[in-house]
Amino acid sequence: MLYVLIIIFILGLGIGSFLNVVLFRMTTEKKFWDGRSECMSCQHKLAWYELIPVVSYLIQRGRCLNCQKSLSIQYPLVELITATLFTAYIYFIIPDIMSIYNLTWLQILEIIIILTLITQLIIVFVYDFQYQLIPTIQLRTIQILGLIYFGIEYYSTRIIPDSLITALACTFVTWFLYFITKKQGIGWGDVELFLGLGLFIPLMWAIPFFFGSFIIGTIWGVSLMIINHNSSLKQKIAFGPSIILSFLIIFTLITIKLVPNVNIWYYLIIPNI
Ligand SMILES: [Zn+2]
Repeated sequence: MLYVLIIIFILGLGIGSFLNVVLFRMTTEKKFWDGRSECMSCQHKLAWYELIPVVSYLIQRGRCLNCQKSLSIQYPLVELITATLFTAYIYFIIPDIMSIYNLTWLQILEIIIILTLITQLIIVFVYDFQYQLIPTIQLRTIQILGLIYFGIEYYSTRIIPDSLITALACTFVTWFLYFITKKQGIGWGDVELFLGLGLFIPLMWAIPFFFGSFIIGTIWGVSLMIINHNSSLKQKIAFGPSIILSFLIIFTLITIKLVPNVNIWYYLIIPNI
């Protein structure tokens, strides 16, 4: 069991490392398939031993071997977070980790959807944090994943998931805020992010998810103002990371069954239960 989890963790580190490459290439003109990775300051081509996730960073003490410029802490962080989330979700989704060898195709599909969602959320988190912009490819991917997840839920329960209302309600309210704040408070990307992520959240958790995003966003904004000694509210901060954090907290609680999760329709259809 531990053995399976360790393999998943190492796999997660590798995928995290790939996400770093995707993020790096997204911000430069380079296509992510051309050429080897190189140091951002001196263009020194990285050898295989400089590309081992986390390990290389620690051995090199966060510096480029060639020019000694410090490397961003983002690299090991993205790798560790990807690996941790992958391992945790697989551990909690699969009731008995040894049954990993005889999962149904529906369970496999669900796991693929969730792991892919995690990779997209990490990309949006980092990108939005740095550029205050959510890339369209990631938004579409998250929305498509949401629709497939919705389909899986419907297929396994035969009841239309009430997460449809979560998605529509969150989208409508943020869309409204987007207009009344004249696009200052909320970006269009945030509206679309709610549409995609809402499809993963059952209606009974819609309010904690929605307000959680705003609470985290406020704490984030205030902390930034204190750190930067900047009292101006005009400073743009990314809202995407707050939505993602709130989503991950709520979605994790539901997935590990720490909180109840009941389809509201169930009460309407069978009122005596
Ligand atoms: Zn260098």
